[in-house]
Amino acid sequence: MTECPKCGLVKTVKNGCHLGRQRHRCKDCGFQFTRATSKGRPASEKATAVLLYTLGLSLHSFVNTLKKISMKN
Ligand SMILES: [Zn+2]
Repeated sequence: MTECPKCGLVKTVKNGCHLGRQRHRCKDCGFQFTRATSKGRPASEKATAVLLYTLGLSLHSFVNTLKKISMKN
């Protein structure tokens, strides 16, 4: 049996085909999937990217605020 990508349990059943691929359905959470592994980058990499993005934004706004303060004086 295939492992559910959502809850990690192996209580999955075959549930027809989608775009030529075997579709599975988790008996526990009801999640339907055609691939066992998730698409795209790993979750840890995404979290790091989001963290860097937010840090970059806050730094940018911090610099802009500093510029506005220095222009007034
Ligand atoms: Zn599941």
